[in-house]
Amino acid sequence: MARYVYDFTEGGRDMAGLLGGKGSNLAEMTRLGLPVPPGFTLTTEACRSVLDTGGEPPGLWEEVAGHLTDLETGSGRLLGQPDNPLLLSVRSGARFSMPGMMETILDIGLDDDSVHGLAKVSGNERFAWDSYRRLVQMLGTTVMGVDPSLFERALTQLKEARGVPDDVHLDAEDLARLVETYKNVIHQETGERFPQSPVEQLRRAVLAVFASWNGERARLYRRREHIADDLGTAVNVQRMVFGNLGSDSGSGVAFTRDPATGARGLYGDYLPNAQGEDVVAGIRNTVPLTELKRLDPGAYGRLRAHMETLERHYRDLCDIEFTIERGTLWMLQTRVGKRTAEAAFVLSADLADEGLITADEGLARVSGEGLARLMFPRFDTAVTGDVLARGVPASPGAAVGAAVFDSAEAVRRAADGERVVLIRQETTPDDLPGMIAAQAVLTSRGGKTSHAAVVARGMGKVCVCGADELTVDTGARRCTAPDGTIVEEGTVLSVDGTAGTVYAGAVPLVDSAVMRYLEAGAGGRATTGVVDAVARALARADAVRRLEVRANADTPQDAVRARRFGAQGIGLCRTEHMFLGERRKLVEEMILAGTDAGRERALAALLPLQREDFTGILEAMDGLPVTIRLLDPPLHEFLPDRADLAVRIATAEARGEEPDAHDAELLAAVGRMHEENPMLGLRGVRLGLVVPGLVAMQVRALGEAVAQRLAAGGAPRAEIMVPLVGDVRELRLVREEVERVLAEVSDTSGVPVTCPVGTMIELPRAALTAGRIAEDAEFFSFGTNDLTQTTWGFSRDDVEAEFFSAYLDRGVFPVSPFETLDRDGVGRLVGIAVEEGRATRPDLTIGVCGEHGGDPDSVHFFHSAGLDYVSCSPFRVPVARLEAGRAALDLADAGDSR
Ligand code: ADP
Ligand code: MG
Ligand code: MG
Repeated sequence: MARYVYDFTEGGRDMAGLLGGKGSNLAEMTRLGLPVPPGFTLTTEACRSVLDTGGEPPGLWEEVAGHLTDLETGSGRLLGQPDNPLLLSVRSGARFSMPGMMETILDIGLDDDSVHGLAKVSGNERFAWDSYRRLVQMLGTTVMGVDPSLFERALTQLKEARGVPDDVHLDAEDLARLVETYKNVIHQETGERFPQSPVEQLRRAVLAVFASWNGERARLYRRREHIADDLGTAVNVQRMVFGNLGSDSGSGVAFTRDPATGARGLYGDYLPNAQGEDVVAGIRNTVPLTELKRLDPGAYGRLRAHMETLERHYRDLCDIEFTIERGTLWMLQTRVGKRTAEAAFVLSADLADEGLITADEGLARVSGEGLARLMFPRFDTAVTGDVLARGVPASPGAAVGAAVFDSAEAVRRAADGERVVLIRQETTPDDLPGMIAAQAVLTSRGGKTSHAAVVARGMGKVCVCGADELTVDTGARRCTAPDGTIVEEGTVLSVDGTAGTVYAGAVPLVDSAVMRYLEAGAGGRATTGVVDAVARALARADAVRRLEVRANADTPQDAVRARRFGAQGIGLCRTEHMFLGERRKLVEEMILAGTDAGRERALAALLPLQREDFTGILEAMDGLPVTIRLLDPPLHEFLPDRADLAVRIATAEARGEEPDAHDAELLAAVGRMHEENPMLGLRGVRLGLVVPGLVAMQVRALGEAVAQRLAAGGAPRAEIMVPLVGDVRELRLVREEVERVLAEVSDTSGVPVTCPVGTMIELPRAALTAGRIAEDAEFFSFGTNDLTQTTWGFSRDDVEAEFFSAYLDRGVFPVSPFETLDRDGVGRLVGIAVEEGRATRPDLTIGVCGEHGGDPDSVHFFHSAGLDYVSCSPFRVPVARLEAGRAALDLADAGDSR
């Protein structure tokens, strides 16, 4: 018989798949002997069964009833007991926490009778009626589907009628009246009565949690975060404890370290005389946790001790929720806390220093994505803009954008390509689309644990919250700064999430400290905590990784920078830029040449220029491999635009003038070379085979550069890479020419020059015939951009803007195959080519030089596919080093970081 319910005493953190994150951690705390109100968890399996079949699995409610009885026995109270009712909370909790799931319902078990009992046993009538009011409202909205604004309106009307500013001033009698009003609202709206049976309340709340798994917001979030749709959520049923019983009670949220910076020391917010949900909602202003030390030193001391227990046990930053009921501390939740990229690096280094984790675990807990974020520029502090307002630095980084005041507007403007800053008093889950669309989130209320702060940190989005000197008027779409400045919708602001400052206008950006350190290369000194932590993570990654990391660089300057970033060579040097600029004239001459002699003249003029470029790059990368790709793009790309030429000629003719002869010649050439599908046309190796002398010129320039470097005492390691090969015979023809030219160069220079010759694998046919191609290739380099285009049969430039968003929305792929390698298709071709290439030539060097070489997920794939190196743009080199290191770890037990 399947089992669907587990008591908190029966579970543990290793059961998160079954009990959800919240449930498994509640069980873990219970196991550790921490004071957790007792309760039980309905499993994700129960949820899946309900969602799949539309009905409850047999035996489910009997099982629940059994656990309920235990709970009643343990607490000496019965659910619905009129004189002393047991009250419960119903809390959703999936494997991964996600917005859009049903909100927690507190105080289940109150009805028209037991509310009086609660008043009596608590000695606090107002408290009892307030609890009942909350239950009716929460169940009414979340379970029965009543529009929340109807309840709010009723509350406002009552406050007006009573002439009081807020709910705190409503007394027990008022609240009792409100309960009646709320119940009537429910009846009017749904035709149903508010359920008076506590068991019915419980049952409906549980089913509503299950149903919320398929809510729209939850689905949107899962798609964005690549979380499977079939996991289901667990439901936790727990005995209530009360933080709103007076000034000796309260609720709070705390982190064992600062989740924004990773700094040591307790961090948190506390709200006296409040239930937990009041803290996060930002309804009243919280006090810092240190204040609790004064208010209730005993509870504070116990809290500290429990937090230390948790951090040592989880060996990570923990995020907790607690409630104090009349001086008794209760732990209501814990989890490994979300953190910023900066905090992730600092924590890894610190926890390793403290002996809680190993260096490898530290490496597993940071990410290339996080490192990339730390390399982003910061605001230039030397240029002080006008400070509009200050708030809590909730999620670091620098962002500039136009002010918008609601989610829909943020989405609208972002879709038009505008950068926006979303400004709200506080955010709710409804603001999620706008938060995703915005560069930064700014709120006037709430602390580091407010919804805005937590969600923004999770998304790596800049956030300043609690900027309470700003008066935000969302209705009028504007806010007012303390100095009277009015920020209308569309006004450009700069938000500094690291310092918590908001500036008027666009403040200029400068390199981050991490970037400055990386830019300094081997001479770089780690000056701050985060820079030191990054340096250590990179050092560890370099020590454990098997993949080498090269850079894609076309100029000596790029090569120098790449080397400073730790590149171990150049995996792709595109020679085409060497044909641009002032050299274009020479290229035109080559293309237009009517005779062999004319073409040779043009090529001869290009040769010394190419040689100089090669010499510079080989010098910058002395001792390291430099893979030079022969000319790849179609020749017409080097000629002027066809339409421009036609217009020039037509204009001259219209004026009755003789059109420029050169223009006419160019136009004819462009016309001759016009291709319907240039991507699939005369380019790559095909060009080398049909334009006489082109390959020879490039190889001679390279050979001479190598000879020159050797003569100068250098250690040049040039490799010649032939693009777009589909058949070994193409490669063989080019290779013969390369060998002939290099022999000539060796003869004339008196220096023996040899270069390995290899090919790009960027056509499916190349991958599928890799065994043959390897007969003539000393290395392979996967050109995954073209390989993705040719495998899918779409050209990146044409389709990305056109239908990718529809494909992403409709789930054809979870992420663009140009960003993250498509393992099933393109990856399969990679696998075949690796296997068959190495079967022919066991010492074949294999790398990748497409943009995927710098994408974290793809790097992991290339590691497992057995490649020797990845090559990416210089700025991605540190990211690739880090991820190559992480790929080499056995990540089996690093699940904590999720
Ligand atoms: P979320 O997933 O949104 O954090 P929770 O299930 O943690 O939702 O509940 C929301 C709030 O209700 C939290 O502040 C929590 O501390 C409080 N809460 C939940 N269960 C109880 C309980 N049994 N007693 C008192 N407060 C509770
Ligand atoms: Mg919670
Ligand atoms: Mg290509």
